[in-house]
Formats: sequence, structure tokens, C-alpha cells
Amino acid sequence: MSGLRGQVDEARGRLAQARRVAVLTGAGISAASGLPTFRGPGGVWEEFRPEELATPVAYARDPHRVWAWYAWRYRMACEASPNRAHELLVALERAVGDGFLLVTQNVDGLHRRAGSQRVVELHGTLHRARCEACGERFALPPPDRFVPPPHCPRCGSRARPDVVWFGELLPAAAYRVAHEAFQAAEVALVVGTSAVVEPAASLGRVARRAGAYLVEVNPEATPLTPLAHLSLRCGAVEGLELLLGTQPS
Ligand code: NAD
Ligand code: ZN
Repeated sequence: MSGLRGQVDEARGRLAQARRVAVLTGAGISAASGLPTFRGPGGVWEEFRPEELATPVAYARDPHRVWAWYAWRYRMACEASPNRAHELLVALERAVGDGFLLVTQNVDGLHRRAGSQRVVELHGTLHRARCEACGERFALPPPDRFVPPPHCPRCGSRARPDVVWFGELLPAAAYRVAHEAFQAAEVALVVGTSAVVEPAASLGRVARRAGAYLVEVNPEATPLTPLAHLSLRCGAVEGLELLLGTQPS
């Protein structure tokens, strides 16, 4: 126990000193806001099969079914509120300043709603659609007025969710910015991601290889766990409170 306390103190110290901090978050950070994860207990995957919904093939086959699922998730995201873990990352960004980057795999928009500004949404967002014909991106109307599928305000064609599906490439520019931040980070923090979806999963490894101090927060072990200097086996709120919250007496 004293060993863990010492490690947490070291991580706190490094976070307080670092001028370059990169954070990667996944679905687990929004679990305390009531949004189900894909994997793990209570995950979305237990009720829905992702390969039937979150792929280009699924959308081509049954766009209405896929849109119904996204409209449901969009409504849930709008009704949810950012939790303490999102807020602690806002405070970290303010403390670190320009050398901070938050990279999220989440599509729920909760980091921005909490107040994070230096954010890369690597997998897009539930709050927007993208025209299938001309590529125009546009915000969805509020859930109560939203009837899927949406149509492009510019050309009238059908639009798809503005998210990255399985089998699709990440937006190259966004990934490059994320990669650079992890490469340059003195401290890298990976929170609530199963770390199995590439290439986002490899950002922690990139940082570690480049000499960063790597901290993971996840109630379960992940492929990143053996590489982490400190792996806190707990929820995001509890873990970030330990690392960033008011020092326990
Ligand atoms: P994932 O569902 O694969 O894994 C979730 C991880 O969170 C697991 O490792 C689990 O152990 C951990 N976890 C569960 N409860 C936690 C808690 N309270 N605190 C901290 N960690 C907790 O999620 P992922 O790795 O982000 O998977 C990637 C894909 O899932 C992305 O494409 C993302 O868009 C999508 N996704 C996003 C949301 C969202 O935006 N809220 C929700 C579900 C899935
Ligand atoms: Zn269009």
C-alpha cells in the first residue's frame, strides 16, 4: 500500500511539473456519466453487435437501422453531463497550458462540454453528420427534433454519422497531431480505454518508447498495463482524483 502511495505521489509530482502532457481517453471516462462502454461489463456490445452497426458495410445494407442506433446514442449523449473526471482534465489543461493535448476516442462530446479546448476527437462525434455526396459536415438538430436520416443543407443528399467506423481510416491530420503530442509528452495519461482499437491504442506505446512517464487508469488490465509506470486499477473519477485532485491529507 505504501508502495502504491509512493508511486501515486511520484505521478502527481510529474504531472504538476510537466510542460508537455498528452492524455488519451476512451469510453470508460464517460461511464460515470451513464454512457455505456463498448467492451467490458454492461458494455453496448452485450446488446448490439458492433459489426452489424458500426461499419460501412452495415450502413450500406441498412442505413435506417444504423441511424436509429446513432440517434439513440446521440440522445443519450445530449442527456448526459460531464463528470468529475472530465472536469479534472479541464483543470489539468489550464495548469499545463499550450503543451497539453487531450486525444479522445469518445464521440459523446462530453470533454468539450466540460470545457476542454485542446481536444482531438479522433473518432468524430455523435453531434454531427457528414454528407455522403459532398462531404459537408453539419450539426444535428436537438434530439427532440431529429428524425434520421438527416439531409445535407448544401446539396440535399443523405448524410451519415460523422464518426469513424470499424474498417475506416482515422482522419490523417488529427492522428498526426495526436501522434506528435504523444511523441513529445513528458507524461502520458491513458484513461478508460481497452487499448485494443488501433491505431489509437498505440499512442501510449509511442509515448513510452519516446521516454514519457506513462500512467494508466482502468478498472481492468489492458495491453498497455505492462508498459505503464503506474497503472491504477480503478474507475476514471477515483483515479483522476488521486492523480489530480486535492491532495489527500
Ligand atoms: P471500450 O468500450 O473498448 O473500452 C472501455 C474501457 O473502459 C474498458 O477497458 C473498461 O475496462 C474501461 N472502463 C469501464 N468502466 C470504467 C470506468 N468507470 N473508468 C475507467 N475505465 C472504465 O472503449 P474504447 O477503448 O474507447 O473503444 C474504442 C471505441 O469505443 C471508440 O471507437 C469509441 O468511439 C467507442 N465508444 C465511445 C463511447 C462514448 O463516446 N462515450 C461509448 C462507447 C464506445
Ligand atoms: Zn452535400
